[in-house]
Amino acid sequence: MQKATEFRLEARPRLPEALERLDELANDLFYSWDNGVRSLFARIDLPLWQKVEHNPKLFLRRVAQASLEEAAEDRAFLGEYRRVLSSYDAYLEASPVPEVSDKLNPDEALVAYFCAEFGFHESFPIYSGGLGILAGDHCKAASDLGLPFVAVGLLYQQGYFIQTIDPQGHQIARYHSHSSDELPISPVMVSGEWLKVTVPFPGRTVTACVWEARVGHIRLYLLDTHTRENSAEDQELTLQLYGGDESTRIGQEMLLGIGGTRVIQALGLKPTVWHINEGHAAFQILERCRVKMLEGLEFEAALEAVAGATLFTTHTPVPAGHDIFSKGLMQHAMGDYLNEAGLNFDKVFDLGGKNGGESFNMTSLGLRGSRFHNGVSRIHGGVASEMEGAIWPQVPPAENPIGYITNGVHVPTFLAPEWASLFDIQAPSWKSELRSPGFWEFVDNIPDYHYWSVHKALKQQMAEFVVDRLGRQHRRNGTGHSVTERMTRQLVSPEKDTLVIGFARRFATYKRATLIFSDLQRLESILTHPDQPVVLVFAGKAHPKDKPGQHLIKVIHDLSMNPAFMGHIVLLEDYDQAMARRLLSGVDVWLNTPEYPKEASGTSGEKAALNGALNLSVLDGWWGEGYDGSNGWAITPRDTQLDHEFRNEEEARDLLDLLEFEIVPLYYDRAALGYSSGWVKRSKNSMKTITPRFNSQRMVMDYVDQYYCTASAQGQKLSVNQGALAIELAAWKQRVHQAWPGVSFNISGTVVSQCSHDETVEIRVEAALNGLTAMDVRVECLVAPKCTGTHESPGPGLVLLEYESESDGKTVYSARVSPPYPGLQSLKLRMYPYHDALTHPLEMGAMLWV
Ligand SMILES: *Cc1c(COP(=O)(O)O)cnc(C)c1O
Repeated sequence: MQKATEFRLEARPRLPEALERLDELANDLFYSWDNGVRSLFARIDLPLWQKVEHNPKLFLRRVAQASLEEAAEDRAFLGEYRRVLSSYDAYLEASPVPEVSDKLNPDEALVAYFCAEFGFHESFPIYSGGLGILAGDHCKAASDLGLPFVAVGLLYQQGYFIQTIDPQGHQIARYHSHSSDELPISPVMVSGEWLKVTVPFPGRTVTACVWEARVGHIRLYLLDTHTRENSAEDQELTLQLYGGDESTRIGQEMLLGIGGTRVIQALGLKPTVWHINEGHAAFQILERCRVKMLEGLEFEAALEAVAGATLFTTHTPVPAGHDIFSKGLMQHAMGDYLNEAGLNFDKVFDLGGKNGGESFNMTSLGLRGSRFHNGVSRIHGGVASEMEGAIWPQVPPAENPIGYITNGVHVPTFLAPEWASLFDIQAPSWKSELRSPGFWEFVDNIPDYHYWSVHKALKQQMAEFVVDRLGRQHRRNGTGHSVTERMTRQLVSPEKDTLVIGFARRFATYKRATLIFSDLQRLESILTHPDQPVVLVFAGKAHPKDKPGQHLIKVIHDLSMNPAFMGHIVLLEDYDQAMARRLLSGVDVWLNTPEYPKEASGTSGEKAALNGALNLSVLDGWWGEGYDGSNGWAITPRDTQLDHEFRNEEEARDLLDLLEFEIVPLYYDRAALGYSSGWVKRSKNSMKTITPRFNSQRMVMDYVDQYYCTASAQGQKLSVNQGALAIELAAWKQRVHQAWPGVSFNISGTVVSQCSHDETVEIRVEAALNGLTAMDVRVECLVAPKCTGTHESPGPGLVLLEYESESDGKTVYSARVSPPYPGLQSLKLRMYPYHDALTHPLEMGAMLWV
């Protein structure tokens, strides 16, 4: 039989006048966090809304004209439509919160935020996991707060892959092309023409067209090489997120960094702060240097001016998370660009060098090309300081300039509508109190039975969702209906109200998804207890090249099919934001077992907590700060020096102990109430302590306070007067670099080892400055208590030595120190180069100790 060619014809409906603004709503990612907007579409045609996977633009292309006409005649619907629009308009008209407008004047300041992925909503699949969701949440909070802010990224037609799991537990990756008119984007027009930018590539020029996504008050610009000017191959450069090979990767990063900066310029925007979110976007530093050099600065001075206005956030201590390019690839891919830009290859290459190796590390470039740097939790800030310590070789890692801001999540996006409605009644101003921990005490005023009924309703919805998804998976795989039925029996039984534990995230091996399976016999007896059963729900994607990650999926799949565990382990395919919202708001416990200290922050546990689920997690990432003894359960990581296997066994035992002796008994301690009041208390503790501390508004305000304000000021200070200060600073740094290896210093005379508590001791040092002047360095004495009793007073800790004299080529500095502590104390003396224009006193990374 001859196969017929299929011609597709799409008959698009026309919006009735009364519903004209639906189009506007479909084109603003406001819908990704406003339940009102989403429920409008759902009300028009629920099955279609589900079929198009909550994609408003696609919905408006596919919906029947009759459905629209009906809605346009429906008074109740129109009332809701007007209510939603007026809240949308009110949102857009709102002024920035005063804390923002006081600190960053929108007429002057602008933050430009670069990231390789953005996760706003399942209908816009240009994200793979935590990094993207975090970037999306950062934009949403920036919009909520009214920050002067613009974001830059890449548009991937196929985005990240769609996952299916076959009957044998193998992950199958598929890609689906999204046409631009089913995404919430529109072309950026400048003087009537579609904005395009070009970037020099080896032997050719690559063009990118520019799209705009509206995110409430702010805009996200996305570069896309799928345009006629490019060869077929170059058109595919932005096809997939984290797809292709090394040369695809470096090409995408050139587009993002260099092309992205050109977009900002073409739009006439003048950012005062540039925030590079993870190494992928770090090439923007070079492009901004190029522009400064056109204005007349030398490379070194240009770099000072650029770096002073730049914040670099590093997101992972896992080496595979850092882009490292070989010298050959750098020469090939970047050669033409650097030539054209007038940038010297060796100097640029040095910026990305690490430990003298022959490769180029994007994280190193990010750190050397910025003067503000941070990790994403307290623990990770410390780990990053150690890991990247070589950038400041003589400075103790604890003192190097890497700070931290702990990630938070966008509450309106991840809070279930049912909770939001309850908060609306209980504490109507909750949306503007996301940064007030005291306010959230209101959670305790919600009656327990009411609190539990909301949780139970959400749990029921989650169970239905799981049954539906699993049913589809199994039908496709030809798995018998009875298997599906047995597998979900525990979940769907409301009278049993089984304890459900969720685990969903990328299947990266350091996340140890299978840690809980370390002692199968014991786990089986816990999960299948006749009166107190437990169900584990798993989901997540492994990168298509990550074979060990895919193996984890197979292990879980096989166990889920094992008769011993049937009904107690469920594995769902194709984890995305929609599934995340369902699982996070429906499970009782959210499990996370990363290998310390590799979970830089983790954010899904924060989303779980806002919805009343309790975290059971290794004390790593955000949980290291979030856990307070009463708001979840913690597994203490074992010493990282210990043997790998041993650590896993120990931590797995802790996990099973917590489950068996604390979590299961507490959950099932429900007496006549039908729920456990001890559990509800813990859940309320979790919701009220975590929501106001780990949300993205708190996070973005921290960025404003700790980095955006100072970076904006520092960048401007270095750039005014044709970069006069940047020129001076660069020249000074060069002088110090040359002189420093010949600099030395010593104690002059002796330091007494005993004195009376009310005496002072004289400390003098003499330095050989090798041509530097007395004012080019700072000399400090650090004082720390050695052995103290009850009366330890916090002393000054640090005493600056003053310049005293110059003789015989020696520069003398001295101070009189009055011992700050009683009894024994330790004194240490150090010297480092110092200039007033430095952003951080230790940014040179040079330091000598006596
Ligand atoms: C929040 C979220 C993540 C990140 O979760 P982690 O626990 O930080 O790994 C990944 N994917 C989706 C869809 C999410 O919503």
